[in-house]
Amino acid sequence: MSHTSTIDSDLPCQAIYQGTGSAAEIEAQVDRFYGEAVKRYPTYETMVQSHFCELMRNTFGENEEVNQDVAYAYAYARELYDYLSQDELDKANADAFNKGICSHGLTAKTCPCGCFELE
Ligand SMILES: [Zn+2]
Repeated sequence: MSHTSTIDSDLPCQAIYQGTGSAAEIEAQVDRFYGEAVKRYPTYETMVQSHFCELMRNTFGENEEVNQDVAYAYAYARELYDYLSQDELDKANADAFNKGICSHGLTAKTCPCGCFELE
C-alpha cells in the first residue's frame, strides 16, 4: 500500500487558470464571456470589449504566458474577439477619444454620459 499526497499547499493567491488542457473547453469559456459582455452592454461596442477583457483577466490572470491553457485562451480571444490587454485598451481608448469617440464608443452628440463636457 502506498500513500499519495494530492494536497497542493502552496497554491498562489492570484488567479491562475488551471484548466483541463481542452481547447474546446477554453473556447467555450471565452465564447461565454463574450456572450455575457454583449448581453450586458448591447449598445456600447467598446464597453462590451472592455467588459470582455476584464472577464478574461479575472479568470485567466494577467500573465498571458503562465501556462499553455492560458496562452491558448488569450490567443483565441485576440483572434476572435479582438481581446486587448489593459495597456492596449487604454491606448485604444485614448486614440479613439482623440478622434472624437468616448469610452462608450459614442460621439459628443450621442453620448448621454457627458464624456465631452470636460473643461
Ligand atoms: Zn461616453
